[in-house]
Amino acid sequence: MLCGSAQKKQFDRVRSFGFPLVYYQCERCGLVFQSTEESQAVDPVFYAETYRKVYQASAEPTAKDLWVQSQRAAHLLSLLRGQNIPDPQRVLDVGASAGVLLAAFQKALGSDVMGVEPGDAYRAYAESQGIPMMASLDALISANPQRFNLITMMHVLEHLPDPVKTLRMLRTQLLAEDGYLLLEVPNFYEHDSYELAHLVCYTPHTLRETLRQGGFRVLKVWRHGVPRSARLNLYLTILAQPQPDTNEIAPVKPERFVRLKRQAGMLYRRVVQKILPHQAWLPLPEDHEV
Ligand SMILES: [Zn+2]
Repeated sequence: MLCGSAQKKQFDRVRSFGFPLVYYQCERCGLVFQSTEESQAVDPVFYAETYRKVYQASAEPTAKDLWVQSQRAAHLLSLLRGQNIPDPQRVLDVGASAGVLLAAFQKALGSDVMGVEPGDAYRAYAESQGIPMMASLDALISANPQRFNLITMMHVLEHLPDPVKTLRMLRTQLLAEDGYLLLEVPNFYEHDSYELAHLVCYTPHTLRETLRQGGFRVLKVWRHGVPRSARLNLYLTILAQPQPDTNEIAPVKPERFVRLKRQAGMLYRRVVQKILPHQAWLPLPEDHEV
């Protein structure tokens, strides 16, 4: 899934939403992932129908969902402002969910926006808010749209069966040469990360390497807990630009001691939850880890 090696060993076994999951580790690069041959979350029908129902007992956007997305949107806009990048004229959100992030770009920066969301009810909700939406990246690419200045992908990469291929597709078909990619994933070293639909568990190292293999140069990585925690770095947000010369992508640098770092991170998490419970987990409309 990252370096191309087929050598893997079992890393962990867990249950999620009643399904048994096996996580493997690539023996060459250290990436932790589910086997795509075994996982049910690889089937596109899973996202169109089952995903939201399994995760939240409803296929419709919930109040909690909309709240989390609006908090995330405000945070991402503030991160971008801090980087002094030009206001993006055209923004594409892949995995746009209910369209909250795109609505924020529209409102704050006057951007032209487009969303891709396979979940029918979420896409319909976004459309009802005036956000143009597509059901898949393939459908969007077939429509041959003008290139985007910013592509965002919030909590999507960890769901993809071939993340490097998707990143290359975004770079070669949809992103402007001088455009930006902003994406966020759970941080394996402080977020539980094991979930039915999480095919890859990213660390700061393997996330950078994945972006690099996808043909991007990484400008910045933030570790943070917004909007769920004031103390735990549950999430990794990364800003990148297309690498001008993709003939020169160096091989994946392996990560060592992943298990040890995971154990240290989870120990830190338990300590913080014990001594600073109200900062470890900030209140939500309805408490649930996302
Ligand atoms: Zn590997």
